[in-house]
Amino acid sequence: GAERTKNVLVLMSDTGGGHRASAEAIRDAFRIEFGDEYRIFVKDVWKEYTGWPLNDMERSYKFMVKHVQLWRLAFHGTSPRWIHSSYLAAIAAFYAKEVEAGLMEYKPDIIISVHPLMQHIPLWVLKWQGLQKKVVFVTVITDLNSCHPTWFHPGVNRCYCPSKEVAKRALCDGFEESQVRVFGLPIRPSFARAVLSKDDLRIELEIDPDLPAVLLMGGGEGMGPVKETARALGKSLYDKVQKKPIGQLIIICGRNKSLATTLESEEWKIPVKVRGFETQMQKWMGACDCIITKAGPGTIAEALIRGLPIVLNDYIPGQEKGNVPYVVENGAGVFTRSPKETARIVAGWFSTNTDELKRMSENALKLAQPEAVFDIVKDIHELTLQRGPLAKIPYVLTSSFTSLDI
Ligand code: UDP
Repeated sequence: GAERTKNVLVLMSDTGGGHRASAEAIRDAFRIEFGDEYRIFVKDVWKEYTGWPLNDMERSYKFMVKHVQLWRLAFHGTSPRWIHSSYLAAIAAFYAKEVEAGLMEYKPDIIISVHPLMQHIPLWVLKWQGLQKKVVFVTVITDLNSCHPTWFHPGVNRCYCPSKEVAKRALCDGFEESQVRVFGLPIRPSFARAVLSKDDLRIELEIDPDLPAVLLMGGGEGMGPVKETARALGKSLYDKVQKKPIGQLIIICGRNKSLATTLESEEWKIPVKVRGFETQMQKWMGACDCIITKAGPGTIAEALIRGLPIVLNDYIPGQEKGNVPYVVENGAGVFTRSPKETARIVAGWFSTNTDELKRMSENALKLAQPEAVFDIVKDIHELTLQRGPLAKIPYVLTSSFTSLDI
């Protein structure tokens, strides 16, 4: 039709790798499903337009997850609603103009938040602007199970929950049934639509074509006991009697450069590949037979799509804790904090315990929801259509900021 292109603003923050991955998944799915009908902007509005602490979430987050006790305090300390509402209200009042300018620059018809701290302030801004009824605002929750209460804001048009457990909490928190949808975690379409075979991938990535392969990682920041686990695997995957490896190890360190440097300089008896931040995770997962990771929701959901049995070796207190029973109780993996135990389990999967590996792989595929991201964008499209033909939204800037026409 002759309708103008609609603008979609996706609000994310580079805390960890998960929020960006979800935001990009949504962007790619919009392109695949609707082509030019939507123009997508993925933005860390806080970082670009506001001052501390909003522009510094990335650094505070990195600092806090490194000092786990602090993060635990931050997570649980801000859980009661009155604490976070008044905190966010104070920040909102202080940075109102800047946030407003940041949001309005993109003249959004639809705002999608994939971050727990990005409902309250944007919704207030829309209210001030009298745009609540005109702009579609949805939240896409990216924590599988235990999530922070700031995710739930009853003022949204839709709240997309990745699991039934999360949906239950949304309903307890005062949401109407009609506001809540459960499709699964949005994963980049390259995972759902990947077609390459394991053999081809191994040639492309230059890894041994025959040896079983374990992928070891720790989210976007390369967290958890990666180093210790790699060393333990170096021993357990080497058959001392036959004097040959029974498996190979791929380590993806993400943005953790010092981890990569350390591991690269070590000597190994088995084939080991050490990589930094990879942009084609679907290929590395497609080339491997199982995965060891902290309980990051993005990595877990991706591994399930690829049918990889999972050893969970760590979790960030608070939001990642609930991901552990999700994997273990559904028979798609195991949890242990001990690098030695992890190494023993993987060696078993690659030798005497192949049945378990196969069974867990099947269970993983049963849990996988590769279509979730498409269901989400189609639902947002429906929601937009229900608003009727979009009137040109009267964006008026109250700050001195002049909006750029993009
Ligand atoms: N990731 C990536 N390249 C890397 C390491 C991680 O693209 O080198 C992606 C990974 O595929 C997943 C996300 O980063 O989509 C990590 O999200 P998760 O929720 O597992 O953990 P977080 O990093 O957010 O704590």
